[in-house]
Amino acid sequence: MQNPFQNAMAQLSKAAQIKNFGDEFITRLRQPDRDIRISIPVKMDDGSLKIFEGYRVEYNNALGPYKGGIRYHPDTEINEVKALAFWMTIKCAVANIPMGGGKGGITVDPKKLSKEELERLSRGWVQKLSDILGPRKDVPAPDVNTTPEIMAWMTDEFEKITGDKTRATFTGKPIENGGSAGRGPATGLGGFYVFDSLRAQIGLPEKCKVVVQGFGNVGSNAARILAENSHIVIAVSDSKSAILKEDGLDLAKVEAHKKNTGSLRNFPGAKNITNEELLELPCDLLVPAAFENVITNANVSKIKAKAILELANGPITPEADEILFRKNIPVIPDVLANSGGVTVSYFEWKQNLKNEHWTEKEINAKLLPMMQDAAQKIFEKAKENKIYLRMGAFILALEKIKEKML
Ligand code: GLU
Repeated sequence: MQNPFQNAMAQLSKAAQIKNFGDEFITRLRQPDRDIRISIPVKMDDGSLKIFEGYRVEYNNALGPYKGGIRYHPDTEINEVKALAFWMTIKCAVANIPMGGGKGGITVDPKKLSKEELERLSRGWVQKLSDILGPRKDVPAPDVNTTPEIMAWMTDEFEKITGDKTRATFTGKPIENGGSAGRGPATGLGGFYVFDSLRAQIGLPEKCKVVVQGFGNVGSNAARILAENSHIVIAVSDSKSAILKEDGLDLAKVEAHKKNTGSLRNFPGAKNITNEELLELPCDLLVPAAFENVITNANVSKIKAKAILELANGPITPEADEILFRKNIPVIPDVLANSGGVTVSYFEWKQNLKNEHWTEKEINAKLLPMMQDAAQKIFEKAKENKIYLRMGAFILALEKIKEKML
């Protein structure tokens, strides 16, 4: 797989070519403030001891405490975590929240652990990192395969070790553990708000044919919200399967089917297709909502979507990005499109520090104008400089970060 950190740095170089930020600033942004690797010993249910490798990368805190999720995946490694932490730095600036960028992870397939092992592993991650975490220092959150329940274990462990009772060190918690209303669907909803704000400007019709890759928290919520707003979701996929129904999928039924059978495969009335075929379907909007590097030099020429909404982090490689730009296929970039998640995380952190609870209605009423504002500012920036939206977002973010660092 292409190294995601190299991809992230290629994007930074590109931005530095468009606007002169000065060598010193760009050089500083080529390295995280610190990257930490830990080994986490876990007593397994059979009595044996297993050591897992974990990470926390604190990339940049010019705008506020380091902020970003923790990923559990067998392919997670330090370069991926560094890339994700860099993108969080850009994302928080784009979303206009007072947070810096960080990311964490553990190399593990959580599906192979019992619930008890998963809890011991998650608490172990906190035990090794409690010194550097805290509401004003570094505030982790969920990412791929990390759930509100895991955030609750981590919050509890952090409180046990440090005595901190604010519960503001981790976001994405269950509501009863200090979590925020609306955090679950926030990334998908924020993505919809951004898309809805830019749809006409990027030349898409009122009723779009949509294809969604990935059916985790982000992909499934985005698909549902798009369908609820009169778009037609024709295809979705998860890690094992993909399904297509030209006249539109009933997403409540798709969710139920996945819950009952463990997979999307053989959904009544739909055709089973491969993940590759899904990406190459003709549609108005393609929504990659899974992992990095899914649109690359190898398949970019086969993409038939009219526009792309990146809800995953880093799904398009820099080379493929250039080709899409030349082909006039607009890409609403990850750092804007999926920033609804961290924005509601910021709301959660704020509620915890002030000991308040905001309703889902209040949360969404705050989220909508922030997403619209970020989307329009980036659209203007890109138009003004005749560059693509990702570079519009980068320039806007880098200007903000540079100003604070000086
Ligand atoms: N993991 C999410 C992201 O990539 C959310 C981060 C957060 O809420 O801090 O944006």
